[in-house]
Amino acid sequence: MAILVTGGAGYIGSHTVVELINAGYEVVVVDNLSNSSEKSLERVKEITGKEITFYKADILDRDALEEIFTKEKIDSVIHFAGLKAVGESVKKPWEYYNNNITGTLVLVDVMRKHNVKNIIFSSSATVYGTPKEVPVTEETPKGECTNPYGWTKSMLEQVLTDIQFADPSWNVILLRYFNPIGAHKSGKIGENPNGIPNNLMPYITQVAVGKLERLGVFGNDYPTKDGTCIRDYIHVLDLADGHVKAVKKLEENAGLCIYNLGTGNGYSVLDVIENFEAATGKKVPYDFKPRREGDIAVNYANAEKAYKELGWKARYGIREMCEDSWRWQSNNPNGYEE
Ligand code: NAD
Ligand code: UDP
Repeated sequence: MAILVTGGAGYIGSHTVVELINAGYEVVVVDNLSNSSEKSLERVKEITGKEITFYKADILDRDALEEIFTKEKIDSVIHFAGLKAVGESVKKPWEYYNNNITGTLVLVDVMRKHNVKNIIFSSSATVYGTPKEVPVTEETPKGECTNPYGWTKSMLEQVLTDIQFADPSWNVILLRYFNPIGAHKSGKIGENPNGIPNNLMPYITQVAVGKLERLGVFGNDYPTKDGTCIRDYIHVLDLADGHVKAVKKLEENAGLCIYNLGTGNGYSVLDVIENFEAATGKKVPYDFKPRREGDIAVNYANAEKAYKELGWKARYGIREMCEDSWRWQSNNPNGYEE
């Protein structure tokens, strides 16, 4: 039996495929390559020594999914496929709702027709909106999202929760990721954003490698120790391991489960720059810029529940996250392009 990984050519997906293969699982990947390159899967093959069954297909394409579920023996799905650029989602809400929500509805419909009722869904800390208290636990109420991307995550959590409630033979695990950074230790796979990065770490690594001149730090007047925002950065390898542990939980027929995947530690933007410089010996010139719309001052996880119920805990600290992001970027200044 195999695990279908949607969006498996992407950043988190490719790292998770490596960990699943290392844990002995058979994997089938579906990805439309709208935000990724098939080269990531060639690199996964180099790392694991295993051939990967790959379908270049869109999850909106019901016929393509039907074919995959008919041909392959799938028993669970890890669902990463989705559009994820916050700013773009504000400009193209229809595209985001259609791709992320309709795509998931089609996927889940094909799954149930084939009696596959196990799904792990990539959610996000963004569903908490502006939390009243940190660290956030899974009991912290969900909040108002500040952009369509965030709403797709929040709405899809509800969709999957309602589907599991109506038919308890479903097992649904919602994983709320905090801020994934870092890369595989081999330096062969990593985050490969299109165009100018929106997120902090790829922006930093592109400044360090000389592709961008200076980092803009969005806001230095937040009520934090140094005025810059605080986030819970988590190594993508820890995140990948969280998915392997979640697959084991699916095997226990656990019903509906929700877990935060974070380290429980908050670092400010300036802390990240400082750690990156110390880890790599590279200078990251920066300027303070106005606050970015929609940013919240502080967010970090209480990840006790994932530890208690999955036996999962983050192993890597901020230094290693910086070192590993840099190894990937410096070995591959243009990502997967030659
Ligand atoms: P990514 O863009 O690297 O990976 C997503 C993959 O899905 C890409 O390979 C893309 O080509 C594919 N895809 C998109 N729409 C598709 C469709 N309709 N059909 C088939 N494939 C499609 O992003 P990532 O950082 O690896 O994120 C993976 C998931 O985790 C996403 O759902 C994202 O929203 C979620 N997430 C990411 C972060 C983060 O900071 N990276 C944080 C929280 C949640
Ligand atoms: N950030 C920044 N400059 C950048 C990108 C991000 O100062 O070029 C800050 C951003 O304001 C936030 C933190 O870095 O406080 C993390 O941002 P990112 O977009 O990586 O993740 P988010 O927490 O918004 O999902």
